Amino acid sequence: MPGARSWGTLGGMGDGGHTDVLVIGAGFSGLYALHRLRSRGFSVRVLEQADGVGGTWFWNRYPGARCDSESYYYCYSFDPELEQEWTWTERYPGQEEIRGYLEHVADRYDLRRDIEFGVRVTSAAWDSGERSDGGSSGAGWTVTTEDGTSRRCRWLVTAVGCLSAANVPDIPGLADFAGEWHHTGRWPHGGVEVSGRRVGVVGTGSTGIQAIPVLAEQAGHLTVFQRTANYSIPARNAPLDPDDIEATKAEYPSIRRRQQASTNGHPFTLSDVDILDLPADQRREIYQKAWDRGGLQFRADVKDLLTDRAVNDDASDFIREKIRETVHDPATTETLTPRDHPFATKRPPIDTHYFETYNRPNVSLVDVKADPIAAVTPRGFRLESGAEHALDVIVFATGFDALTGPLLSFDIRGRDGVSLRDAWRDGPRTHLGLGVAGFPDLFTITGPGSPSVLTNMPVAIEQHVDWIADLLVRLRETGEVAEPTPEAEETWAVEVARAANATLLVQAASSWYLGANVPGKHRVFLPYAGGYARYRATCDDEAAAGYPGFALARPTAA
Ligand code: NAP
Repeated sequence: MPGARSWGTLGGMGDGGHTDVLVIGAGFSGLYALHRLRSRGFSVRVLEQADGVGGTWFWNRYPGARCDSESYYYCYSFDPELEQEWTWTERYPGQEEIRGYLEHVADRYDLRRDIEFGVRVTSAAWDSGERSDGGSSGAGWTVTTEDGTSRRCRWLVTAVGCLSAANVPDIPGLADFAGEWHHTGRWPHGGVEVSGRRVGVVGTGSTGIQAIPVLAEQAGHLTVFQRTANYSIPARNAPLDPDDIEATKAEYPSIRRRQQASTNGHPFTLSDVDILDLPADQRREIYQKAWDRGGLQFRADVKDLLTDRAVNDDASDFIREKIRETVHDPATTETLTPRDHPFATKRPPIDTHYFETYNRPNVSLVDVKADPIAAVTPRGFRLESGAEHALDVIVFATGFDALTGPLLSFDIRGRDGVSLRDAWRDGPRTHLGLGVAGFPDLFTITGPGSPSVLTNMPVAIEQHVDWIADLLVRLRETGEVAEPTPEAEETWAVEVARAANATLLVQAASSWYLGANVPGKHRVFLPYAGGYARYRATCDDEAAAGYPGFALARPTAA
């Protein structure tokens, strides 16, 4: 096999044997990458900093943590037997249940033997393998971990997740806080004692909106520090009925076909009704039905919701009305009412009694847009007005340095030692979200420029991994090194911007889709908004045409 060489551990841990591919991360994407690449005949090792599988679902153990996609389709589709043997218990799977599912997958496909846990990658450097005598030991990556050991591989695949780099606000005085504070994405495994205590939650995104009702039931007093009011749709979670489970299992082939043909990996049928042509009572009936059904399907029930501002305004008005109907106190209602962005232009949360929670006597709401948090004192928060809020526990539900943060959390160096941080100084550039010019044989599952966070993640992940696996098979056969061309990156950047600008998504100024939640982060729309099915077709065309977006070069022969 031309170009095939052995890769292994350099003076470090591991078995010292042959490793074609190193995968970083053992969440949904890393586990599937290991399984798929192994089945295509590659030797694969996965490096995972946690001491268990799960990725996002390993770390996010905050009260109320649950998936907003429904269980029957927030799962792998690659093996029909797995679909039939696994039985979900609730409409939306909780964190524990998803982690249990991923543990089951790890065991079922014997994945653990190729995963090293508790190993944090600190750097990865590519070299051409060219020797001073004109020969070559083979191009590849050297990956170094926190304990100082290095491993060598031919191909590097990042499976680091999109939402894994916690964004903790840089508020002066936090180190002196006398109570305890936690970011929801790094929640202690043993839980946090909140009973009878004064708890402050910062953040009302999907995470805050899930955690707040649960914390309110346990805390002595809960204060929510809200910067931007948010929309939310009731989730209407419930245990699954055994008959429904069987019916769903029987329907899986059709569910999967619908997901593959969809814009965002959900198996929903998009409405074809021009809602503004209908009289007010009929429009309301549509919204009410979607509200009563609950969940993210609300978006599919309103045609042009994310492309037509008048349609969106009408739907947003309905949700604002629901907030008014639910919350009793007029001042609280006013603060909770979102006005600065159209519905669903920031990732829409779904909830269980979120707005109702503000009617509880032990819950209060503070508008920190009007009066920002100035400092953390040993006792709690001090706002710019000088108002003090005494707290025992601070919960930062403040989100993540999304998409780029996880990839820039370690030092990746490509051709000529150029760092990814430097290459992305003016914002990330990728080809299809899967590779970066100047970084040969590096593949980024759900990287910036992929549909990732705008889709139901397992669908995007399986597509990425399958596509990467096909390319690696070719590279193994030809001995070529693959690297996106700058021209392909430019073309893809234009397409990513075009797709975003064709929607209302760019109108949410404080959205993490734009990097706006992290101070100093370059503002650019990060995921691909052109739709999953379109993206998949683009990737398929790229492969069918022989990967024209990649420079495919044969390294100097050894
Ligand atoms: P997020 O959507 O970024 O929300 C962070 C919240 O913290 C926002 O309300 C933000 O206000 C606020 N915030 C950030 N910095 C602040 C500061 N310095 N002072 C005051 N407020 C501050 O983060 P998230 O809720 O963790 O959700 C992130 C994403 O994770 C979601 O959009 C979703 O894709 C995913 N997620 C999924 C699930 C699920 O499916 N189960 C659950 C949770 C999260 P601004 O809006 O003003 O920036």
